[in-house]
Amino acid sequence: MNKIQILVVEDDAPVRNLITTTLKAHDYRFATAVNGSGAVMEAASRNPDIILLDLGLPDMDGVEVIEKIRNWSNVPIIVISARSEDSDKIDALDAGADDYLTKPFSVEELLARLRVTTRRLALMAAGSRDAVFVNGQLRIDYASGCAYLGEEEMHLTPMEYRLLCLLAQNVGKVLTHKFITQSVWGSSWEKDVGSLRVFMATLRRKLERAPGAPQYIQTHIGIGYRMVRVE
Ligand code: CA
Repeated sequence: MNKIQILVVEDDAPVRNLITTTLKAHDYRFATAVNGSGAVMEAASRNPDIILLDLGLPDMDGVEVIEKIRNWSNVPIIVISARSEDSDKIDALDAGADDYLTKPFSVEELLARLRVTTRRLALMAAGSRDAVFVNGQLRIDYASGCAYLGEEEMHLTPMEYRLLCLLAQNVGKVLTHKFITQSVWGSSWEKDVGSLRVFMATLRRKLERAPGAPQYIQTHIGIGYRMVRVE
């Protein structure tokens, strides 16, 4: 039996059934809510490990649900959006969501997102305050402020190093352009997204073996970036 408990918030019965059937088939425990107020109540009373949250709910916006839950909980939240507009996902991510799925999604996509989030949970539980971060060939020694790729020390500018650390500290999570620019240089002007792209390109040239097919840092077009776990 999988010990992970998932709260499924979805007002659309066929989609909710697809999700719960999938969870059942893969031995996840779950609870359901069909609106925003129910979601907040269930999140508070059941203390789930992961929340799957539809953004279009009958009684309140999904973003509002995230804001309420974030008042007391860091539970990973994966938003599900029928709306293809990136702005909804960006609002949700900025409000504290961890990841997103766009409807229609496949069962495989859903399971993949859950696996990524479960790994993050395990790492969070193992203590994320390690002095050294390791991911594939990448190693960051926070104490000395050095990053290595295999045995080679990476020659990073201070900005590239901060960017790399931010992505590493949030490995598995999608970070929006706004979040990154605010965290790394304290502002989120439109023009800074252009600068971010430039810094990211130079960082990738140093980090990725094939910058055209990045292994460590995924681009989410119009949304942001995510560092993924490399085997
Ligand atoms: Ca809905």
